[in-house]
Amino acid sequence: MEDLKPLIELQDNDIEIRKIEKRLNEEIPLLLKEIQEGEERAELMVKQVEEKIEKNLKERRDIDLEIKSILETMGKHRAQLNTVKTNEAYKALIEEIEDDEEKKSSMEDRIIELMIEEEELQKEKKSNKEEFSKIREEFSKKKKLVLKEQKGLETRKRKLLEEREKLKEKIKPELLRLYVQIANKRNGIALSPVHDGFCSVCQIRIRPQVLEELKKGEKIIRCENCSRILYINEEKET
Ligand SMILES: [Zn+2]
Repeated sequence: MEDLKPLIELQDNDIEIRKIEKRLNEEIPLLLKEIQEGEERAELMVKQVEEKIEKNLKERRDIDLEIKSILETMGKHRAQLNTVKTNEAYKALIEEIEDDEEKKSSMEDRIIELMIEEEELQKEKKSNKEEFSKIREEFSKKKKLVLKEQKGLETRKRKLLEEREKLKEKIKPELLRLYVQIANKRNGIALSPVHDGFCSVCQIRIRPQVLEELKKGEKIIRCENCSRILYINEEKET
């Protein structure tokens, strides 16, 4: 009589290994990537505001320098007012001074605008920073959990692989070969329990004659439809 128990256990073992491998190789790396990207996005939000503030301050420094140079020019022109000889030259100087005064005034307006803008940006920076540290904390917790799960799964996988080796010793080589051959073709499922006279994987009805042979348990019986190795699930059938 063929004892399929070790093979059934081997299949359960293989199914679990595949599940673990999917989690370890596909889902967990994706989760870690998402966590990292989320952190980077939050960090970028802070950086972008900092850059805006830096730009704002630079513009203000540049305008300050320009105002300084305008004031110098205006001072020179004012001093020249006392030395010009003609009315025309006097008028021209006055016009230049007035132009400069206008320029200076619009620059001062711009500085006020920039100061208001900076105040807003500082607020934004503060809230983005708070958001960032919250996200970072949240993500670091998530990451710890994922890494813990990863470690646990790796341990479990090692154990399953060890068990697999032991189970293999209990299975006849030709049966093991058949199992591997079917499993490779059939999505990793090479064994199918019979329920109420049906192959539980492909749902085809097993002919009564085949069922009789199966019950005798003298040889390996395969489903005539899906080719899987059939067995009677004793726990469920009784
Ligand atoms: Zn079948």
